[in-house]
Amino acid sequence: MEVWFTEDQTKNLRISCRVREVLFSGESPFQKVAVLDTLEFGRMLTLDNVIQTNIKDEFVYHEMITHVGLNTHADPKKVLVIGGGDGGTVREIVKHKGVEKVVHVEIDQMVIDVAKKFFPELSVGFNDPRVEILVDDGIKHVKENKHTYDMIIVDSTDPVGPAVGLFSEEFYRSVYEALREDGLFVAQTESPFFNSDLITRVTSTISGIFPVTRLFQAVVPTYPGGYWTFTMGSKKYDPLAVDTEKISALDTKWYSPEIHRTAFVLQPFVKELLPK
Ligand code: SAM
Repeated sequence: MEVWFTEDQTKNLRISCRVREVLFSGESPFQKVAVLDTLEFGRMLTLDNVIQTNIKDEFVYHEMITHVGLNTHADPKKVLVIGGGDGGTVREIVKHKGVEKVVHVEIDQMVIDVAKKFFPELSVGFNDPRVEILVDDGIKHVKENKHTYDMIIVDSTDPVGPAVGLFSEEFYRSVYEALREDGLFVAQTESPFFNSDLITRVTSTISGIFPVTRLFQAVVPTYPGGYWTFTMGSKKYDPLAVDTEKISALDTKWYSPEIHRTAFVLQPFVKELLPK
């Protein structure tokens, strides 16, 4: 008998993947955690029945949420990741030799444990001696650590449950304060097709706090619509002013100096969502 996993991506849209085997299923204090071996995407992590990551397309999201920001900052040494318990973002950060310290704050220990066991190719960065893992609420962490980080990456779930506060004005203000004087942050900001109100709200809130606000995009087949956005708030550096010729080569499959530029080229309907 065929087994299928189905995610309700919106009230009226579903994605289904054929499943070879359910490798793990558990419930943490925060969410339902599952690991599925799918025929199309390989191993897949779902939280509360929502696809988080999978072996086939994970590199797009993790490279883009990391390298665009790190290559915009002139000398990032101390980086904070909020969420991202699968480890993919940390794996990308530790490719940067100049980074001296990565603090990773994930609220759910079960996600970290599952990543270590079932996603070794993502969680590999956890073994880097520069990485410190804290099981805690990222919202609390930024409030308690002022003027500490060069870059903050918000690798969150959708704005439900413990991640609701990660999309609020109060949180973005705390992020501003947790950054050093030339710091910047990048957050995943969902789909322009299905979350246009969120993109408008978030970019307009961030532009009221940070001197530079930039939206950029990538293609992630398993996220609703396949077209995904990230937003950068920066105190000083503009990603569009980066001399892409000077970006050092990294071992990447999606990000490149050329993509660093083209990721900011937005279609008219997406530009419409941004503050004027
Ligand atoms: N790439 C993913 C996506 O867009 O679907 C996000 C992946 S990552 C697994 C998201 C993580 O954020 C989850 O493991 C969740 O537990 C964590 N998270 C949610 N709210 C959080 C909070 N307030 N503090 C720290 N981590 C949080």
